Amino acid sequence: MRIGIPRALLYYQYYPMWKTFFEGMGVEVVVSPTTTQTMLAKGSARVVADTCLPVKVFLGHVISLVNMCDYVFIPAVRSIKSQVYNCSKFLGLPDMTKAVVPEAPPILEIDIDINQGTRKLYQAIYQLGRNFTWNPVRVRQASLAAWQAHMGYRKMMTERVMTPPEAIEVISGKTKANYQENHHQQAEVPTSIALVGHPYLLYDEYINHRLINRLTKAGARIFTPEMITAETLESAVASVRGKAYWTYEEEVVGAGGHYLQSDIDGIIGVMAFGCGPDSLMIDAVHRQAAKLRNAPFMNLTLEEHTAEAGIITRLEAFTDMIKRRKRRQQEACV
Ligand code: SF4
Repeated sequence: MRIGIPRALLYYQYYPMWKTFFEGMGVEVVVSPTTTQTMLAKGSARVVADTCLPVKVFLGHVISLVNMCDYVFIPAVRSIKSQVYNCSKFLGLPDMTKAVVPEAPPILEIDIDINQGTRKLYQAIYQLGRNFTWNPVRVRQASLAAWQAHMGYRKMMTERVMTPPEAIEVISGKTKANYQENHHQQAEVPTSIALVGHPYLLYDEYINHRLINRLTKAGARIFTPEMITAETLESAVASVRGKAYWTYEEEVVGAGGHYLQSDIDGIIGVMAFGCGPDSLMIDAVHRQAAKLRNAPFMNLTLEEHTAEAGIITRLEAFTDMIKRRKRRQQEACV
């Protein structure tokens, strides 16, 4: 049996955990290829125009898995932390996919809502495991191994300063290299830039027009939310906004607040056009940057028709400005 996992939305956070669980259940995992224009066009054609870009991309990935697997795994994640909620798009993802991609392989679902208590969570995991085995011990072992894999993945990213795609490559045994390493050290004025935003925007190279790669080649060392520990993110959110309400507040507001307090040279907030939570969260980081005035901030909004040339021009202007600013600071210190 083959389980398909779309390389979109929650993939970047949970892939090692999901893979470990399904392999513990004795099934093979296949992941959709990286995003292409055709995938985005196919996903986009299934929904109304004002649906956010990441959901269109997700649907394109599901379509690409047709005939590649027996089931496709689409969790409905409402909440992973008490009284902190995911965007509504995540809750209805399995139902929406069934409605708009009727040719999709049968969908394996799990409802994750920590507000319902851990007992309900365990029941949901067991129900998912029942698709493969009646043995509860086997489900328990697979879920414990999956949790260990998730913790190891998180630890690898924070301790080795890696992005999720880099960590996934290492876990999969494909590479041991950190692709940032050969560029920033050679730059005339090495700079550090923090990117804050959803992982499905920061690491999908098609929709962000190879953002990390471009910045790295321009001599910037890149820092992202996954490189910060959960505790640090939590306290950074508390210092910027008080209590978090959205699941992604830590990755956006927390990471922004943390990097603004560090000696970062610049910060880029990456958001999806038309995303309500993003506009509030990125605005909070922007206001904090304006208040602290210790690092320039740029907002990059991605949408289906974002022109690559426009992004390149803005990135060049931003990195040039950061380099000039840094050079002036260095001269002032001499
Ligand atoms: S948080 Fe925003 S970008 Fe993400 S799925 Fe929801 S609406 Fe779309």
